[in-house]
Amino acid sequence: MKQIRFEYIDSGEFTQKLADFKAWCESGRITKMMFQIYTEVLEPEVVQQVCSDIESIFPDTLYMGCSTSGNIVDCQLSGRITVVCTLFELPTTRVLLFQYDLSREPVDKITSDIVEKTERNPWVKAIELFCTIPEGSTTRFCDGLKKIRPDIQIFGGVTCSDDITSDDSCVFSRGAGYSDRGIIVVFYGGADFYVESINVTGWKPLGRKFRVTRSEGSILQELDGIPAYDVYHKYLNIRNDENFFYNTLEFPLFYEHNDTTILRTPVASNADGSITMTSDIDVGSVVRISYGDPGTIVESIRNDSKRICDFRPELLHIFSCAARRTFWTSKEPTFEIQPFREISPSSGFFSHGEFLRTNGSLNQHNVTLVIAAMREGEKKEQDVSPVSMEESSLSKVPLVSRLATFISMTSLELEEMNKRLERANDSLKAAAITDGLTGLCNRREIQARIAEALREVKEENFSLVMLDIDNFKRVNDTYGHQEGDAVIMRLADILRDKKLIGRENAVSGRWGGEEFMVLLHDTEAESAFETAERIRGCFAEIDFPNSGIHTVSLGATQAREDDTLDSLCTRVDTALYNAKESGKNRAAIL
Ligand code: GH3
Ligand code: MG
Ligand code: MG
Repeated sequence: MKQIRFEYIDSGEFTQKLADFKAWCESGRITKMMFQIYTEVLEPEVVQQVCSDIESIFPDTLYMGCSTSGNIVDCQLSGRITVVCTLFELPTTRVLLFQYDLSREPVDKITSDIVEKTERNPWVKAIELFCTIPEGSTTRFCDGLKKIRPDIQIFGGVTCSDDITSDDSCVFSRGAGYSDRGIIVVFYGGADFYVESINVTGWKPLGRKFRVTRSEGSILQELDGIPAYDVYHKYLNIRNDENFFYNTLEFPLFYEHNDTTILRTPVASNADGSITMTSDIDVGSVVRISYGDPGTIVESIRNDSKRICDFRPELLHIFSCAARRTFWTSKEPTFEIQPFREISPSSGFFSHGEFLRTNGSLNQHNVTLVIAAMREGEKKEQDVSPVSMEESSLSKVPLVSRLATFISMTSLELEEMNKRLERANDSLKAAAITDGLTGLCNRREIQARIAEALREVKEENFSLVMLDIDNFKRVNDTYGHQEGDAVIMRLADILRDKKLIGRENAVSGRWGGEEFMVLLHDTEAESAFETAERIRGCFAEIDFPNSGIHTVSLGATQAREDDTLDSLCTRVDTALYNAKESGKNRAAIL
């Protein structure tokens, strides 16, 4: 593969260069070629002129182009209109190009058409996408391409204009023409075509987690229930003024989606405290504010450039977020991609969003650098090593990076400690209302529940069943305290059995020793008596291996509107007493 670069100054000069180039091609072993036009100039007439110049000299050659926020050739910023021609040298390599009109065709139809085309062309190994700035989210588009054969790599960029806060963008190609709402899809493949694509961010998460509690499309309304803008204001002291976009650029939101890390940048803050983001973030996503630290970014790019170098590419396609260009204000716009310069020729552009398929899922990133490395044929051994970055920025970890690590570690520890405290608090709360031996409510809790039910007795009647094990002293005396405990626990199991009690919302508690109380919501006296009888019958059927059969006596009563906690409990206790008095192992009602 080879790449020939043209800077477009005017039609006359460009056409002449193309004619010379054509003559050169005819003498070589070029099997296929494709022109890619990257333009910061969006005027359709200008774009149209470039296209017709190409068509006049190369009437049958594929070409496509898009608007950009800066053009990149060989890892350096090139002219406002840059044309690169990729020459494919092996006859097996295949390239196909389609353009879809987003204003005419629904996204689902486009994605299923792309999927179908990959199925019809088994040679496809990579798909490159150029999409104009979408009106809403690209999630549907990305999800629609999930069905594409998993070994096909997908990468690309959202096209842009030189004003990164503007929504203007365009794509164009042979046949389809100029579109400000379109997608260009390029298929690459063939037996001897190899490709590898990666993304680099370098941005690192900072501090505590936030949950997205409200969002709609690209509008992020709330984080942890508070307006999203307040988070930026409180934690970073970023104000709601004309510099909001530039100030937040260094602190995009960082989250995991489809098993990969995604960055989203705030674009504008709105009057209601919401923030407009570069793309959507689902409700429920856990995000962190992240920070861009030059030292860390340079370090991660250096590591990734080694990987790309090992692939021995012949050509790199670069999609770098326009926000990254803005980030390196004090450096060259292409400062961070310098390590790729010695690896191979490259071309690409500063984008509004970056596409990359990772682990089968296609995602639209922001603030990200996506690099696709391509090669025809086996690796050619050559002695290349990525250019080293400025030594000063690598030799010493910058203070800001250390502070960021400090903040992240502190918040992680706090998060962990909070979790432990929450767990301890939950078990303390549970212990405070639970009886240790039986696991039922303790007396204080069941009393509180009865008092609560009494407050609402006008709206909903309820009943109580009180029970006491018969001749329990004898069990202890004859078989020991441990056997006594086992009998109590077995009775508690019966009182926990919602089916037997017949009420889903029944509450059982240990009143003391071998006495229990059952609160039956929405229950009248007769029905409570039936429940008491079922408990009695069930318990009396248990044959304890050591101590044999035991019985309980029970009292049942329905709460009255004029009852106090005291009068109600006394009445049920009297009912129980009556059951004992009339011979035990029975239920009485009052
Ligand atoms: P009645 O049929 O009239 O209820 O006779 P009783 O023997 O059951 O009555 P009494 O109140 O005289 O005895 C209750 C006994 O329950 C006394 C106490 O030793 C025993 N007890 C109280 N709490 C526990 C406990 O947690 N475990 C065991 N094993 N025994 C307990
Ligand atoms: Mg007893
Ligand atoms: Mg008793």
